[in-house]
Amino acid sequence: MANLLWLQGGACSGNTMSFLNAQEPNVIELVVDYGINILWHPTVGLEIGHQVADLLNDCISGKIQLDIFVFEGTVIQGPNGTGKMNYFADRPMKDWVYDLAHAAQYVVAIGDCATWGGIPAVPPNPTESTGMQFHKKKKGGYLGADFKSKAGLPVINIPGCPAHPDWVTQVLVAISIGRAGEILLDKYHRPKTFFTEFTQTGCTNAPAFNEKIDGGFGKRGGCLFYEVGCRGPMTRSSCNRILWNRQSSKTRSNHPCIGCTEPEFPHHDLKKGTIFKTPKYLGIFPKEVPEGQSKLAYYIKAGFHKIMPTSKALKETSI
Ligand code: SF4
Ligand code: SF4
Repeated sequence: MANLLWLQGGACSGNTMSFLNAQEPNVIELVVDYGINILWHPTVGLEIGHQVADLLNDCISGKIQLDIFVFEGTVIQGPNGTGKMNYFADRPMKDWVYDLAHAAQYVVAIGDCATWGGIPAVPPNPTESTGMQFHKKKKGGYLGADFKSKAGLPVINIPGCPAHPDWVTQVLVAISIGRAGEILLDKYHRPKTFFTEFTQTGCTNAPAFNEKIDGGFGKRGGCLFYEVGCRGPMTRSSCNRILWNRQSSKTRSNHPCIGCTEPEFPHHDLKKGTIFKTPKYLGIFPKEVPEGQSKLAYYIKAGFHKIMPTSKALKETSI
């Protein structure tokens, strides 16, 4: 059995909604089949007021063994580093986070806000929000670059806005059955099993990407990279392999990927205001090219595909 505690900081509860919709395994299976004992969760926990404070204090003192501490939302440090913008059970939430993270065997950050600050940490960041162990791409965050939980692991980051529910439940299962050592993390502490391949892997528009056939919102048969700035080739996630609701994904349903599993999310340039503007990568020499390719190599490859006769055939067969 593994005791799990879930708290929320600067959050919209989107990751909780996602988690409650998990399918493989679902939350009931997590409890019944994999022995995860949810000590408390802000949405489904029964305890209130001092009962919660007592439970948290028992976890910190070691009276209750805390195996997994899950945090959703940003760590709010404002105003002026006091954390008073986010009070919980008579203390700034950030103080609970510090003590619980140091008492837990494993610490798991769920969603972009908890992993790297997400939307609340976009400048001017009035709440002084940050992620558990990263601030955007920079390692450190609230707990510091050297933080390790009692089991010797850094914060396990499961990003996404929200995180895919099965990424969450499958990591929790791995911990609960004693296989946490097999969770290999990338440089942003994301489990490699979900965040090594690009989101584009498994996208049904991939042939059109190669052929440089433009698509758009809801238009079938084209790729969303050129006209509506799909970030599938620059984003690492398994959205097109572990489908959402086991049915589909953004790009399969012709909505561009907005790169929500990357630390720079939401991708913005305050001077140009691109957070509010649909990006385009169209043109002979687009400024952004798929990750892992030099601009020159991409221009040559794209130009070659454009003049291949198969482009015409693909256009004619697209719906
Ligand atoms: S729609 Fe996006 S993910 Fe799919 S092929 Fe085009 S760029 Fe790649
Ligand atoms: S398709 Fe892109 S934006 Fe959508 S959930 Fe996956 S990584 Fe996030």
